Amino acid sequence: AIVVQGSATPLVSEYYLAAKTSRPIINLPARANPNIITPSINVVDMTSKNGFLRHRFLSDLLLNTINQNLENNKQTLIYHTRRGTASTTLCQNCGWSALCPRCFIPMTLHADQHALICHICGYRERVPTACPDCGSTDIVHKGIGPKLIESELQKLFPQATIARFDGDITSKNSLNQRYQELYDGHIDIIIGTQVVAKGLDLPRLATVGIIQADAGLALPDFTTRERTFQLLAQVIGRVGRNDQPTSVVVQTYQPQNPTIVQGIRQDYASFYASELAERRRGIFPPFVYLLKLTCIYKTEATAIRNAQKFAAKLRSEYPDTTFFGPAPAFYERVRDTYRWQIVVKSTNRAKLLAIASQLPRTHWQYDIDPANLL
Ligand SMILES: [Zn+2]
Ligand SMILES: [Zn+2]
Repeated sequence: AIVVQGSATPLVSEYYLAAKTSRPIINLPARANPNIITPSINVVDMTSKNGFLRHRFLSDLLLNTINQNLENNKQTLIYHTRRGTASTTLCQNCGWSALCPRCFIPMTLHADQHALICHICGYRERVPTACPDCGSTDIVHKGIGPKLIESELQKLFPQATIARFDGDITSKNSLNQRYQELYDGHIDIIIGTQVVAKGLDLPRLATVGIIQADAGLALPDFTTRERTFQLLAQVIGRVGRNDQPTSVVVQTYQPQNPTIVQGIRQDYASFYASELAERRRGIFPPFVYLLKLTCIYKTEATAIRNAQKFAAKLRSEYPDTTFFGPAPAFYERVRDTYRWQIVVKSTNRAKLLAIASQLPRTHWQYDIDPANLL
């Protein structure tokens, strides 16, 4: 049997392995429909407040575009990622964001400890009161949620019919349930998270607006750039599907960020090349195998003590293997338990399985080849 995998945004690891094992890769550079008009792309720099005279996170350009669409009986899709939005620590003046100097991934705010902590390796530093790059004290942590976007838009456009699709909505209000309404154009403004990025094909959709394209980049994981690229490329792909003129408004604090630029251009080839280089630099898949060991305890002290004890045992038994942590898991507190994790990297997958087999019978779980380290 032959398996054909098709994607405009394949996973970097899968593409790499396909190329390495000489599996045939077929590129389809041309559009299926030659009459389509590619959308006009507008990038709004969120570090410049001049573009936000009417609202603090809805740009004048986006609001004007929504207004025009309403007048022309066209739809607007507003996309905002939920992932990582609560843990963004960045400079509003220059776009700097807090990265772990060892893992090159974003650090997570622990407000109660006044600290930024790397959830991969445990590195911590004080929350900066001024930007280390430009000295500005305009450091922000807070995120924007779909509910807030909905209520703000309803205030600004009271006459518009608005529908929101995200994880909080019950299934009777799901995308599938309301697809006909969307398709027929009875909904003027669609607000959504990841669920709206893929698959939607709406003939009256004129504009995709992205609230903060770099929001997903704040998530502390090696797959963060990949997910951000995929979602940007996918949601922008909701327009430019027919012979009607369409547009995209991308708001971002980091308009120069390579992942953002590549996502906006839907440029998989250059994303693949740069992401592969980053994975090589940080020593992540496909250049190494990963094993994630997580311990779960009722109290934080026992979680830390047992994680440290097991990490010390592993380090003495496998001196030539790289162990990271223990560090608090990204989802550190789940259902009244505390989770700490150890991350193991090796080019020898059998060795990782051997390590996993030594795991204590209780309180521990492992994940070999984890999709992410969250
Ligand atoms: Zn700055
Ligand atoms: Zn780190």
